[in-house]
Amino acid sequence: MGSMKDSTHNIPTIAPAGLKFTGTDRRAPLRDGLQRCGEYGAGQTAGRFYPIACVALEVTQRCNLDCALCYLSDRAEMTYDPPLSVLFARLATIRSHYGTGVSVQLTGGDPTLRKVEDIEALCREIKRLGMRSCLMTNGIRASGAFLTRLAAAGLDDVAFHVDMTQDRKGFSSEVELNTVRRAYIRRARGLGLRILFNTTVFGGNFDELPALARFLRDCPEVAFVSFQMQADTGRGVLRARPDEITQDSVARAIEEGYGTPLHFDAAAVGHSKCNRYASVVTAGGRAISLLSNRQLVHRVMAALEAADDQQDAHIRIRPKVRRMICRHPLLALFAMGQLALSVARLGRGLLHGPVRRQAVFIHNFMAADALDEDRCASCVFMVATANGPLSMCLHNAQRDLHLASPDRIDGPAGPSWWNSAVPRLSGGSDLPDLSDPALAPLKRLKGQMRALRQKQKDAS
Ligand code: SF4
Repeated sequence: MGSMKDSTHNIPTIAPAGLKFTGTDRRAPLRDGLQRCGEYGAGQTAGRFYPIACVALEVTQRCNLDCALCYLSDRAEMTYDPPLSVLFARLATIRSHYGTGVSVQLTGGDPTLRKVEDIEALCREIKRLGMRSCLMTNGIRASGAFLTRLAAAGLDDVAFHVDMTQDRKGFSSEVELNTVRRAYIRRARGLGLRILFNTTVFGGNFDELPALARFLRDCPEVAFVSFQMQADTGRGVLRARPDEITQDSVARAIEEGYGTPLHFDAAAVGHSKCNRYASVVTAGGRAISLLSNRQLVHRVMAALEAADDQQDAHIRIRPKVRRMICRHPLLALFAMGQLALSVARLGRGLLHGPVRRQAVFIHNFMAADALDEDRCASCVFMVATANGPLSMCLHNAQRDLHLASPDRIDGPAGPSWWNSAVPRLSGGSDLPDLSDPALAPLKRLKGQMRALRQKQKDAS
């Protein structure tokens, strides 16, 4: 109960990708990884249309919640936040590897614990570099005023994480938490932000999954829902996933809630053991899968790939679709006919609400002591570390190692260095070791106590 997984156990020997991309085709590393493990089939979108799905930029390790399945390290609250110069350098690295269009997740901990001016500066820099920004938050401090400022600074998406692992006072079920979800939607509505919801699926809410999926289906403002399966990693106290929670059982529960098959096997986003993806249209309490004709989905993907003249970056979908329509008018006509039929099948739902598209994800993070090397090597969800992007599952299994690893910033007066054990950039590269308890000032007591408790438990 409640222990960090042993970070020396079964760690694949995959290093961060480095500070600069030196190849010619940005999609090649992911495509090669997926090809090597037989996951680059006709329905694979990763490595074919984009070089990565998203990259997390951890702007703090602090959090105002204490989730029962937290992926952070026991030492998270002992660490200092990275200075903006370090975060800007990591953004430049993300841009170097994945080009424009990549989604950068501003995450933590909870990023809203930093000054709003810092997050504004990051949103502006992400926009300047031609990438997309997404604020990943538990929503507690993401007030309407806070989100309005970020939207003005260029924020594209906001992802709210709400579920029963968070032990929010006064809520005893996912259904009750819908009050919180509705309030968050109201805060973000009308700001031009895409609204996303993340839910951890665990033993404590698995039975409620159909009802939660139905609720999210019926929120027209929500563009993207992600269900993340319990994983035995980080500092969370719940540990191993119950046997009843599998990718298939989660898919079935979501389909029950949406009231229709969702065809999670038609289009892939990375490794099939990592992600399942569905695309639906919703209206007035009904949903229809857009991927029901698997063969057609694959033919359209092949035509889009052939119309892709800029094969090293994120696909810019509109010009490709226009080119595809010119080259394959019959296929385009057939696909549009199918789309119209799908929308028509929403039936009387069309009378009761706007027609919206929603993406549905099931994400299957790995346990820290059971990492699959193939999956880590073909990861679509990376995190920016001091030494370049790295698979999030690998990062979660070795967080303390990466938090202690120094970032190098080159300035006019020469290089300076930073790691999570110090508040500011320093001149020397011999930075203190994060595990030294003397480093933790009073305000990081929470993390210090966590780490000491763990040490005592390990020794007994
Ligand atoms: S973070 Fe883990 S589960 Fe997610 S895509 Fe990467 S390797 Fe797979």
